[in-house]
Amino acid sequence: MKEIVCKLLVIGAGPGGYICAIRAGQLGVDTVIVEAGKAGGTCLNIGCIPSKALIHAAEEFDKVRHMSSASDVLGISVEQPKLDLAQTVRWKDGIVGRLNSGVLGLLRKAKVKIVHGPARFRDGKTVEVETETGTQVIRAETVVIATGSEPVELPSLPFGGPVISSTEALSLTTVPKRLVVVGGGYIGLELGTAFAKMGAEVTVVEATPQILPQYDAELVKPVAKRLAELGVQVLTDTKAKGLSGQGDALLIETADGREQSLPADRILVTVGRRPRTEGWGLEELDLDRAGRFIRIDDRCRTSMRGVHAIGDVTGEPMLAHRAMAQGEMVAEIVAGRKRSWDKRSIPAVCFTDPEIVTAGLSPDEARDQGLEVRIGQFPFTANGRAMTTQSEDGFVRVVARADTNLVLGLQAVGAGISELSSAFSLALEMGARLEDIAGTIHAHPTRSEGLQEAALKALGHALHI
Ligand SMILES: Cc1cc2nc3c(=O)[nH]c(=O)nc-3n(C[C@H](O)[C@H](O)[C@H](O)COP(=O)(O)OP(=O)(O)OC[C@H]3O[C@@H](n4cnc5c(N)ncnc54)[C@H](O)[C@@H]3O)c2cc1C
Repeated sequence: MKEIVCKLLVIGAGPGGYICAIRAGQLGVDTVIVEAGKAGGTCLNIGCIPSKALIHAAEEFDKVRHMSSASDVLGISVEQPKLDLAQTVRWKDGIVGRLNSGVLGLLRKAKVKIVHGPARFRDGKTVEVETETGTQVIRAETVVIATGSEPVELPSLPFGGPVISSTEALSLTTVPKRLVVVGGGYIGLELGTAFAKMGAEVTVVEATPQILPQYDAELVKPVAKRLAELGVQVLTDTKAKGLSGQGDALLIETADGREQSLPADRILVTVGRRPRTEGWGLEELDLDRAGRFIRIDDRCRTSMRGVHAIGDVTGEPMLAHRAMAQGEMVAEIVAGRKRSWDKRSIPAVCFTDPEIVTAGLSPDEARDQGLEVRIGQFPFTANGRAMTTQSEDGFVRVVARADTNLVLGLQAVGAGISELSSAFSLALEMGARLEDIAGTIHAHPTRSEGLQEAALKALGHALHI
């Protein structure tokens, strides 16, 4: 097979890699992208998109199920609904398929050459790809590593049999009767909540004292309340020890040191993700590491000249939109533009029920930086839109510098609140002050009025509380 020589080689077509390749192609850079699996990576095939599809279907089912109970206050009654999870999964796969083809189409439109198969480094500028038609050697001036991440396996609970990762959970065709989720981070809780809504008896086992340990307790409270309403049992300060019984139970150790066996048809392990840095020749390049991740600078350059890295392989926050922003920046750098990482905010959304969205600094993070802060918080119990959509739990919170009113951070928890993430990020990127948010007309009746009211509250003159 003939060797391909190109200006830019991108390894991995997840959100980081495919955006990098598309942008480079748009800028006229001769680009090749290699993908071992399907275009779109974790996010599109086994992450963000399929999980949100499943969450939506579960939410719809739960709503109808609620209406079928005699107590529906809206006065809507329906027959007992049924869920055909195999059909739900086919619908989800259809969306994934459409997006796969969309990404491939965009790459072709940008004149990017796509090579299918796993890449292996020969040296810092050359890879070999095992394609269906033989080994393809690709040599490039610049290489971008965008190989993403994979689920962490617990040594005591290796994947297989009843023990599954998020990947298998997204393709189950029947709802497990009893599901134990090991790890109460965002992936475990998003999927655990969805399965509870679809009718599974769900138990969440979390080793730390709080579910969603990266968020402050106030933000987590409405989520914990809803999990209790859905009948989800949450065991904090509890460790998963391994399978017990005939492999149909999980052995746990509770906070007081007692061991207990939890019956389970499926055990979903979501204890984190690790960068995909092993098994494909990367070790031999001996790039500097930051822990398990590849160390990068503010231009996503690694310790080897002409080798960049982007996305999950470079560390936290492991989020699709961070990977995409890095990919776009690196493509422009390769095309000769002057760029460096200057983002003030990488918003994070947790698609639990209700949703959590954060951007910038939390009150504690701001104080830890020695800043004196002004905080405004507005509850959805005082928001008309929240009342009319029967979801009043939650609030919007703004954190600002006490001396200048410069907004440092924004957080919210509430139904559908993920859509506020762009307003949050825009405020931070534009260097908004409390007065800017308070002085902006927010459409009525919307949940976003909570943002304006939170800013007014921080300024000392909230209007609706
Ligand atoms: C269940 C779940 C839900 C998630 N939900 C969200 C969410 O709501 N929002 C969000 O922002 N993030 C979410 N994420 C995280 C998100 O999916 C990742 O942050 C994102 O996909 C990272 O993009 P990436 O380009 O770095 O890597 P990836 O998407 O992991 O893509 C890497 C690609 O590289 C390919 N590859 C690896 N090694 C090789 C090789 N040697 N040769 C060729 N190809 C290779 C892989 O096949 C893969 O396609 C979720 C993740 C999971 C698992």
